[in-house]
Formats: sequence, structure tokens, C-alpha cells
Amino acid sequence: MEMSSHAGSQAKYKPYNRSSIKRAPQWERIPPELREAVEVVSHVLPFRTNQYVLDELIDWDRIPDDPIYRLNFPHESMLDPDDYATLRDLVRSGDKQRLAKEIHAARTRMNPHPAGQLTDNVPQLDGEVVPGIQHKYRETVLFFPSAGQTCHAYCTFCFRWPQFVGEEDLRFAAKDAEGLCAYLRRHPEVTDVLITGGDPLIMRTATLERYLEPLLAPDLAHVRNIRIGTKAVGYWPQRFVSDVDADDLLRLFERVVGAGKHLALMGHYNHPAELRPAVAHDALRRINGTGAVVRMQSPVLRHINDDPAAWHELWTEGVRLGAIPYYMFVERDTGARAYFELPLTEAYDIFRAAYASVSGLARTVRGPSMSAFPGKVMVDGTPTIRGEKVFALQLLQARRGHLVRQPFYARFDPEVTWFDQLVPAFGDQRFPFEEETATVPAQGRRLDLVGA
Ligand SMILES: *Cc1c(COP(=O)(O)O)cnc(C)c1O
Ligand code: SF4
Repeated sequence: MEMSSHAGSQAKYKPYNRSSIKRAPQWERIPPELREAVEVVSHVLPFRTNQYVLDELIDWDRIPDDPIYRLNFPHESMLDPDDYATLRDLVRSGDKQRLAKEIHAARTRMNPHPAGQLTDNVPQLDGEVVPGIQHKYRETVLFFPSAGQTCHAYCTFCFRWPQFVGEEDLRFAAKDAEGLCAYLRRHPEVTDVLITGGDPLIMRTATLERYLEPLLAPDLAHVRNIRIGTKAVGYWPQRFVSDVDADDLLRLFERVVGAGKHLALMGHYNHPAELRPAVAHDALRRINGTGAVVRMQSPVLRHINDDPAAWHELWTEGVRLGAIPYYMFVERDTGARAYFELPLTEAYDIFRAAYASVSGLARTVRGPSMSAFPGKVMVDGTPTIRGEKVFALQLLQARRGHLVRQPFYARFDPEVTWFDQLVPAFGDQRFPFEEETATVPAQGRRLDLVGA
């Protein structure tokens, strides 16, 4: 393995929050009215950035429209105008008690728990809830290590935002891999474990190792693929290059690969700017050198990447540098969604224009896809069939596995932005996944939900 060539020049991770950002060298470059918006909105939505993002990813000549500035810095129109005015006045007057009350109320109005995240996919073992895991699709278990539930910087669109502002009960996360492994031993159908957060690579290597090592045991040979969801590739690529335990991390990756597993880093890249710095290239080269594979995924977001050219650069540079295009998502129905959302028809047009502009090597990507209750719903076009303009849709993943990739259709509507606004086309009463649950007796229906 290549040793770190940066060992002598370790970059120090330096985060900023609402108070400390005022000491960042770039703070002076933010005009006063935008600064007040950062102050006000960050009471509701979480705010965290770091010196690498400020120095290397944001183009300060282009703020506030710079995409990474939008991605990291709270902005006035991310809140409802009335909420913003109320909170701004309370921040100005210093009425802390009323401020706290209004903050909580504003958060509650922003759908903090979309798609039954906390309640629907939590499996049981011998009648006990297994902490820190979710099991929705047959072959893949999600695992939330408690030490990995934060990030190197926060995205203003984040769907996990309530956990960063303390509105979500974090006791659901797992302190060790014991429960996970016991569950996996009883579930031979599970081939994939996806370790996620937050960002699991916020953990020190030694901590991550305690979670990963047990998965390599011989009695878990059916777990073929280990994935780690991470944004460190974008927000802190030094994690793989110059952090004190970067080399240890790469050795841990090698050990997982050496044990016969496929190791995939599911890299969250929201904009090609994250792929431009040399250290981001180094990170990809070093990760790929361990035998691990990097895949890239992101939602399509207004103000950030609602442009086929951005996706073209992301996917073609990704392929060249060693990150395989995987998913384009639709922004979820939570948080500042009114600010980021795009009509489904626009998301589809962006996807298709970008997809048409790249070679087959980048067409491993799928989308645009909505993570909704029945599964991952992909918009696959807006054709006119027998005189009716429709959305052609498919489930890329489904709670009921046999529905995967079965086409279905919804009435076309240029304003629809999310799954729950879709209406079946051709006068049908139900979508295929609704038919399924409606015809299953009550007992079966419960089974469908538990561990489905
Ligand atoms: C997306 C997702 C997965 C992984 O699905 P793949 O299509 O295999 O990448 C697993 N569980 C949940 C809950 C998901 O949302
Ligand atoms: S990296 Fe992922 S979990 Fe972290 S703030 Fe961004 S979207 Fe949320």
C-alpha cells in the first residue's frame, strides 16, 4: 500500500458552528443581511462547516449563489417567510424563552420524520427491538453506529437534520455490532450491510474497526457486501490522505477486502466542485488502491445542481477518478424542501439530458428516484400513452420484492414534486403496491411491515 506522502503536512480539521463561524477568515466576505440570515436560520436547521470547505470548495466571488455556499450556509428563504420574520425579531430582541418555543414550532412544521424513518423499518429479534438497524429491503440492512451520527459539515437540505439539532432520539443508534451480528446470523437472506449516519467516517479508525471486524466472522459469510455511506470524500478528503489515522483506515479497508468482502464507499457528492481539489483526487486514488470501490450518489437540488452540466461533470470526472455513478435522488419531503425541491418532470429532464451527454461508462447511474414508503420510486419518463400524458414509474427497490421494476403509471402533472402527490393514470384506482397490501389479510400485512 502507498504510504501517506502528506505525513509531514497534516491538515487540521477545523469545524465552525453558529458562534465560531464569526471567527472564520471568510466571515468578513459575507454581506451583513446574509450574516443575519445565517444567524437566524441556523437556530432551526443545523449549521456546521469547516475550513477546507471554506478554502477549497466555496468560490467567494460567487456568493450567495455559489452552490457549495448554498449547500452549507443557511439562507433566509429556507424558512417560511412568517417563521423567518418571527425568529429574526426574537433573535434581535434576545427573548431566549420565546425563541426556543418558536424554534421548536418551526421545526415541527418542517416534517422532521418523513417516510416513517424511525418507526417502520426497525426489526425485532426474539421480540426485542434491535437498536441501530433498519431492514426495509430483503437483501440490505442499514446500520447506524452511535459514534457516526454527525458529519464533517452539514448540508442545508439534509433529511437527517432533526438528529443534528437534538430533536430526534439518538438512542436508536448502536453502541456496538453485537445486536447487528445476532440479527444477521438469523437472516441468511441479507447480503449487504450499509453502515450509515450521519457519516460513519467521522469515527476514528479504531472505533470503526470495532464495528467492522465482527462482520468478517466466518458465520457471516452470507454478508458479501459491506457499504459505508460517507460524505468525507467531499467535505473532508483528508480523512483518507493526511489524518493521523488515514493510513490505518486504508489498512482496515484492505483487511475487509482481504477477508473476501466487497467494500463499497457510497460517496455523497452533491456538486462537481467537490471533485476538483487535488486532495479529493488523492483520496479516491488511495481508497481505490485498497481494493474498495467508490460509488457516488446525490439528490438533485434547486440552487445546487439543477443543471445537466453539473451532473455531466460529476459523472464523467467520477468515472475518470474512480467513483462510479450510482443514484440520483429526488429531494425528500422534509426540512427546507420548499427551497430545494424541483417538479418531478424537471428532475427527469435534468437526468435525461445529463445521461444522454455521457458515455456508457457513466450510465451505471439510475434515477431520479424517490425514497418513499413502498420503495425507491424511479421516474422513467413522461410519455403520452393512448392520448394520456403520464409519468412512467418503476420501483428500483420495493418492500415487496416482486414489484421491483414492474412499470406503473401516474397522471402527468407539471407541478408534482413528490410521490404522495401522484395519482394513478388511465382511471385506475390503485398503484400496484397499494393493491398488494390491500389484498393481504391483516396478519400478513403486519408481517409485511415488520422487517420489510
Ligand atoms: C436505498 C436503500 C437501501 C439500498 O438500496 P440499493 O438499491 O441496494 O442501493 C437499503 N435500505 C434502505 C432503507 C434504502 O433506502
Ligand atoms: S452528509 Fe448526509 S447526513 Fe451529513 S449533513 Fe449532509 S446529507 Fe445530512
